[in-house]
This record gives sequence, structure tokens and C-alpha cells, in this order.
Amino acid sequence: MHSLTKTALSFNGIGRRCVALNRFSETRIICRGLTCTAEHGEHEHELYDVIISGGGMVGTAMACSLGLDPNLEGKKILLLEAGNKKVMDKVPDAYSTRVSSISPGSATLLSGVGAWDHIMNMRCKPYQKMQVWDACSDALITFDKENLQDEMAYIVENNIIVAALTKQLENLSDQVRVQYKSKVVKYTWPKSHQVADAIPWVQVTLANGQILQTKLLIGADGPNSMVRREAGIPTVTWNYDQSAVVAVLHLSEPTENNVAWQRFLPTGPIAMLPLSDTESSLVWSTSHRHAEELLQLDEESFVDSINTAFWSNENHSELVETAGSLFRTALSVLMPSAGSARQLPPSVAGIGPKSRIMFPLGMGHASEYIRHRVALIGDAAHRVHPLAGQGANLGFGDVACLTQLLSQAAFNGKDLEILLCEYLYLF
Ligand SMILES: Cc1cc2nc3c(=O)[nH]c(=O)nc-3n(C[C@H](O)[C@H](O)[C@H](O)COP(=O)(O)OP(=O)(O)OC[C@H]3O[C@@H](n4cnc5c(N)ncnc54)[C@H](O)[C@@H]3O)c2cc1C
Repeated sequence: MHSLTKTALSFNGIGRRCVALNRFSETRIICRGLTCTAEHGEHEHELYDVIISGGGMVGTAMACSLGLDPNLEGKKILLLEAGNKKVMDKVPDAYSTRVSSISPGSATLLSGVGAWDHIMNMRCKPYQKMQVWDACSDALITFDKENLQDEMAYIVENNIIVAALTKQLENLSDQVRVQYKSKVVKYTWPKSHQVADAIPWVQVTLANGQILQTKLLIGADGPNSMVRREAGIPTVTWNYDQSAVVAVLHLSEPTENNVAWQRFLPTGPIAMLPLSDTESSLVWSTSHRHAEELLQLDEESFVDSINTAFWSNENHSELVETAGSLFRTALSVLMPSAGSARQLPPSVAGIGPKSRIMFPLGMGHASEYIRHRVALIGDAAHRVHPLAGQGANLGFGDVACLTQLLSQAAFNGKDLEILLCEYLYLF
């Protein structure tokens, strides 16, 4: 940022009004009390240090994380979300179909922003082990902590994560402003400093006509990110030709239910994730056609299909089994402890009311996470197949990295975008 502009922006004592003319543009930076506005021509638009566009799990976590950082105190931060405010005064009896497996690292991040306690008080199911096995052979792998008492990860409903973060944001209302039902319809990017009459900030236009300006725009607006598209950031995409069918499952009998199950079928992986002693969450990735068929089935046939998918050996192939057992023999020479005891998953007796939904699956990766005055986080930057349960976890990793860099920039008295290029190397 030009030093003259910087001087003007730092000179914002209560009741004072100062105006500075940016040497490279006609934009005037005006500070009245604690409110900064940028004037361009006849228009006057509110100026923020950071605008986060998109208040899903990742954008809301970003807002909390920046709002809590002591080095960013006094910065003007705004979260814009197209949808309604997601509050949860009472946890509904029925589980939501949209859940995420949250890693211990993400739990630490959520704890650091004060949301984890809210999540624990609402609803969350830890699990200690994961069994992944093949439907065409006896190949099997298990993941667990050395100490089986330690949690491997947690299954949490997405709406509980957002509600917990939203609750925490309410405590940060002095640090972070939030606007719900505020869909962004246009971004205007700053032109080169050399262009006279150029606005040096990103201009954000909302559907209601409101125009805002920001020194740093964080795109947290999901896999179809408008920030990414309008910034012209190329994206590598891959269409899996698959959809995921998700549902809440009622188990045949109560169990400890502390294992996450995933079986690789010829059509794609099916996973059963623990929610409680009697309920689990289904994520069945398969062809679009099969997914549609699964949605059309009556409940009894749907439940039969799930139990068959987890239990049946009808896809076992001698060829695959022979190749697999040769590989396992070779592996046991290198790793004598390789090989785990197979456990059988619980059987399913029913599904939650109206709980069957399907989502098309895709992979997307932005070729750049940063541009001048812009950073992408969460699914806006990278969208991955849910089989590894990592999409939201990667997004929370972005939040930790970006907060660290912006905090450092603010501590050093630098323009918040100065350290952005390091964001790429922190992964
Ligand atoms: C079936 C399935 C299972 C999954 N399981 C897991 C799992 O177990 N673990 C895991 O870590 N991940 C999982 N994921 C991935 C995870 O759900 C995503 O990575 C995560 O939801 C991305 O969050 P986000 O906040 O980046 O994006 P989103 O959730 O897409 O949020 C984007 C937000 O931006 C807002 N927005 C969009 N455009 C605008 C605009 N123009 N103006 C204002 N606001 C806007 C939207 O309203 C929305 O609230 C799974 C995904 C699927 C499909």
C-alpha cells in the first residue's frame, strides 16, 4: 500500500475526519471515527480491511479466527453470506444427512476459535478406528491410534459446525461484522497502480445494490466460487461421473459404534460413519444412474441394498484375490505386522425420515490460491472426493495458514496482502 494512503488509514481517531489523496489514483480514503470509506468519483463506499465472501463451515471459521487474533484487533472484517443466519437453539432429535469426519487437527482449530465446546455441547460422535476393505478380494486395511482410547476423528453434522461457529461469531461482534442474506453479484478488481483514476481495492457489489470495498477479499464461496471465476483463476476439474447417496441409518441393535466403515465396491466406495449407539451416516458413492435407482427404492429394498453392499461376497474374484494375496505375502516379508483382523460392520434396519439425498461428485483445484488482493480457501480453492473425508479438514487447514500470515503481516505493520504469496508454501 502506498505510504500516504497508509498514513491516512492509520489516522482514524474517534471524532476525527481525515482525507488523503492517493498519489496514483483519484480515490480518496476518508476515516470518520472508526469507520473508513473510500470515495471514488461521486460514490462513497464502505472500506474493509478484509471481506470474507461465503459463510459456510470454512468461511465462518475464517471469520472467527481473524476476529480472535490479537494482532488483527481494530481491523475492519466483514463476513458476507448469501443464505440465512444458521442458529440452533435446540439440537433437533433427527440427525442431519450432511456430516463431516473432523480430524483432531481440525478439532484443535475449532477449539482455538471457541467453537469446539459448543459442538461437544450440541452433538458429536468420536470414533477410534476405521476399517477399509475390498468387495472383490480379502484385502483389508485398518487405521487406529496405538492407544485405542484416543479418538481417531469425530463425526459432526455440518449444520452443528456452522451453528457453533455462528454462536462464537456473536461473541465477536465488535471485531467481525456479519451480513446474512447478502449475495455478492459482482467483484471489480483493482487495476494496475499505474492507471490513473483506478480504485486500489477490490469492489464488492451485493444483490441489493450495496457496494463495498476491501483491501483483501477471501473467497470462501464453495466449489462453484464466483470469486475464483471472476478473478480469472484457472481450475483443474475432473468429473468422476459419480454421485454420493447420503442417508441417516438406524442400526439393527445398539452397539458401541466407534468404528468408521468403508468398503470398495466395483461401482465405488460405500461408507458408514457412527453418529450414536444406534445410528450411523451413509455416504455411498456410485454411478449417477445407480444413485438415482437407490433413491427410487422403497425403504426396505434400500436397506437390503446397503446390507448387501457391506456384507455380500458376490463380487469376490479369484483373479483379484490371487493377485492380492501375492502382494500381501510380499508385504508381510517387509512388514511382519501387516494384516489386521476383519470385523463385521453393524447391520442396518431402517433409515431416517426423508433422509435420502444425492450429490454429484467432482474434483476441482484452483491453479492459484492467490491473486492481487484475493485469497481462496476451502472448496473454492480445492474440492476433493468425499471418500477420504478431507474436504472440510483441508479448508480448516487453510484457515490456520491464512490467519497465521495475516496476523504476522499486521504485527509487522504491513499491508495484509504482503505475505499472501507464502500462503502457497504453508501447506
Ligand atoms: C457427501 C459428502 C461427504 C463429505 N464428507 C466430508 C468429511 O467427512 N470430512 C470432510 O472434511 N469433508 C467432507 N466433505 C467435504 C465438505 O463438505 C466440504 O469440503 C465443505 O463443505 C466445504 O466448505 P466451504 O465452506 O468451503 O464451502 P461451502 O460449504 O460450499 O460454503 C460456501 C458458502 O458460500 C456461500 N456463497 C456462495 N456464493 C456466494 C455469493 N455469491 N455471495 C455470498 N455467499 C455465497 C454459500 O451460501 C455457502 O454458505 C464431504 C462432501 C460431500 C459432498
